[in-house]
Amino acid sequence: MKTRNTPVAPGGTIGIVGGGQLGRMLALAAARLGLKSCIYNDAPDAPAFQVTPHALVAPYDDLNMLSAFAEVCDAVTFEFENLPAHAIAHLAERVVVRPGAHALAMTQDRLTEKTFVEKLGLKTAPFFEVSSAEQAREAFSKLNGKGILKTRRFGYDGKGQAKVTSAEEAAKAFESFKGAPAILEGFVDFSYEASVVAARSADGGFAAYDPPENEHENHILRRSSVPSRLSAKQVENAKAIAKAIGDALDYAGVFAVELFVGKDGELLVNEIAPRVHNSGHWTIEACQCSQFEQHIRAVAGWPLGDPIRHADAVMENIIGAEADAWQSLAASGALHLYGKTESRPGRKMGHVTRLKPLTKP
Ligand code: AMP
Repeated sequence: MKTRNTPVAPGGTIGIVGGGQLGRMLALAAARLGLKSCIYNDAPDAPAFQVTPHALVAPYDDLNMLSAFAEVCDAVTFEFENLPAHAIAHLAERVVVRPGAHALAMTQDRLTEKTFVEKLGLKTAPFFEVSSAEQAREAFSKLNGKGILKTRRFGYDGKGQAKVTSAEEAAKAFESFKGAPAILEGFVDFSYEASVVAARSADGGFAAYDPPENEHENHILRRSSVPSRLSAKQVENAKAIAKAIGDALDYAGVFAVELFVGKDGELLVNEIAPRVHNSGHWTIEACQCSQFEQHIRAVAGWPLGDPIRHADAVMENIIGAEADAWQSLAASGALHLYGKTESRPGRKMGHVTRLKPLTKP
């Protein structure tokens, strides 16, 4: 077993499970700190493979390959949260894994996650467990006319979700999920969406970024802007929500809490993402320490960096064929392209961040 309490020194290797754009930006941040990264991905054409020579291609539950991965890494992290629990446990027996198995298990399942959030005294949309069509009908009757049925696991960017406006629709939506356990949430008539991206170190240190305001199109994040419309008091509340969640999970690394901002100004927790988050990409240009560097620092056991923001920023995702306009996008701001060869509708191909002078320190 490798030492767990000493920081990974420069020259050491951070293992990153998942080789998409988040893994790629994590690897780039690690390189800047003099750390190597080894990417583990289940397919050979991962965007992150282009930025580091250390790569393993194998299924996420291949225990022999996970052992080999743990062998070459000094600490391991993830760019996505849906790794099988037994694979995480296998890694954790061999190497430091941050965030740990507990935090991942809590946030992989919408029911456990929302129950955990509610127990902390934080607000969420009303939610009910749904494991049968009959339960879907019954749960719907407790809502006020509108809800969203969501699979408990493996949902992202609106996948595994259905808006429902009658008990019958709720039952049909459940059947369309082919027996996958679900929750029915009350539809929140929010004013807008925001998120707080924060970091916690293994010894309990905490740092939160200014919460961006987030706009979605077709269930995919379109734009994140800082400053948001949140008041100073709401910003303080949002950061306190993140701190309460991070502490309760004994979290190590960067995480995001997606929020609905109610018409009455109340903050409701929608979802916890136990990883760096799309709504934090602007921190690369606008903050002293980006969310990617911050995560690597926390995983490696380094001191957290300063999340201070020195500019206003708007980050826009580049989706599908929008990447064809790379020349005009390059002229318009800080362009990040993820190196994906094939552009499909709805696929995140890159993002562009545009800075403006700081208006609200
Ligand atoms: P999620 O996968 O839970 O992050 O949901 C994706 C998006 O669907 C959110 O960012 C919201 O725009 C919308 N959404 C999810 N849950 C609700 C809800 N209970 N009420 C209203 N809109 C929701």
